[in-house]
Amino acid sequence: MTQMENEFLRIEYNYVINNGTVIDPRTEVRTIANVGIKKDKVAVITRAELKGKHVIDATGKIVCPGFVDPHSHADGQLFSAHVMANMGVTTIIIGSCGVGPYPTQKFLKELYQSGYPINCGALTPESWILREKAGIPSPYDEASEKQIAMISEWVEQDLLEGAMGVSLGLEYAPKTSWEEMVAIAKVAAKYDKPVPIHSRAGGWNSLAATREIIKLQETTGARVLISHHVYQCGQGMLAESLPIIEKAYRQGYKIAVDSGAYCDFACPIGSEVFCDGWQQIYDCTYHDILAGTGVYAGQRLTESTFHELKRDDPDASVTAFVGKPYEVALTLKQPYTMISTDGGFPNLAPGVGHPQSAGTYPKILAELVREQDVLSMMEFIKKATWMPAQFFGLENKGWIGEGADADILIFDPKTVKDNAAFPGLGDPMAAPDGIEYVFVNGAPVIADGKVMADARPGKMISSEARIWKL
Ligand SMILES: [Zn+2]
Repeated sequence: MTQMENEFLRIEYNYVINNGTVIDPRTEVRTIANVGIKKDKVAVITRAELKGKHVIDATGKIVCPGFVDPHSHADGQLFSAHVMANMGVTTIIIGSCGVGPYPTQKFLKELYQSGYPINCGALTPESWILREKAGIPSPYDEASEKQIAMISEWVEQDLLEGAMGVSLGLEYAPKTSWEEMVAIAKVAAKYDKPVPIHSRAGGWNSLAATREIIKLQETTGARVLISHHVYQCGQGMLAESLPIIEKAYRQGYKIAVDSGAYCDFACPIGSEVFCDGWQQIYDCTYHDILAGTGVYAGQRLTESTFHELKRDDPDASVTAFVGKPYEVALTLKQPYTMISTDGGFPNLAPGVGHPQSAGTYPKILAELVREQDVLSMMEFIKKATWMPAQFFGLENKGWIGEGADADILIFDPKTVKDNAAFPGLGDPMAAPDGIEYVFVNGAPVIADGKVMADARPGKMISSEARIWKL
């Protein structure tokens, strides 16, 4: 035994995780080992016996990096953080779909002053708050040249302060012009920061909307992330959209896709998704719409309840059952696709909403990894950790090894499964089975499968802005 190893053995670690199957997506190594956690870092991974203040037996369990959700709407809500942590999420990127808090760093600083259970970085949300700030009266109005210049300046300022990137929600702000998109993406490209985009249209208009994002990448050089692609194209269009993306990816375009476990999306009933002609766009009718929140939560809508809800409670979340389940597996299999939730809406509450917030990762583990073998365990972990961490430049996250942040998940691959269901059929926020421990920066947020209600070990994540190109 070397002196160095001896040194490791004399230390007492805060936590020791013994005998688990440690899976590191960065090196693609899978091995049975003991993990020693000191403060907020992984200090050692070894087969030697370690001394620890707290010792966890992980025999038969998988020990891997915590999940990094590249597309969240939790926006600081505590309940959302607990729901996400329950399924193994340790880091989220908020401000997705062009909507979220701004200025991002002020919001995060205030959030972490009072503490938050998980780590969080924020995107500058362009499509709502910045367009409003520029005096654009509604999402149905175009920005003038002067307004675009103002918005670009605010985006740049926010990126310089530490935002992870800038998000666009084109479907929600349908009068976003090509010039506006290019101006925003160019600012992000200057600092090589990502531009996650909720595309302009779903359903039968989604192919042109996908092509537009690829063209934006080509025109500006910005790294783009096509958000929740199954929700946009999963109505039978993926057989056509994926080859378009694949071609761009193979040609070296800076492009990636994220997607969750479900084919049926949630959105506010008052949003542009339900514009004139939505029945034709999505090939569906009122009965295909399920109220997720509000007075009709858990009920399929009728023509009259649909219009009533749209008028009286436009923020009510509804789910449109318009997707094709097989398209989830098809999308997640692609080498450029990472896993996201689109979950954690700020108004999340027990019993209502969409199961994506509480079920995404365990559902994929149970169905696509264990039962159907669509993804190997290594592929799944890579798509849930390393890929999103790399995309957002999180150097110490998304891998497990000496020096990595101690964001660690311990789960049982034999029993892990989602319990979240659509309202009316069950509880959309039900915790999964099989997720046993979730560490964030070296402290457990989930222990023995239970939420540690007072734990606030999360850290704010900011991204340095270095000029990439002028
Ligand atoms: Zn979206």
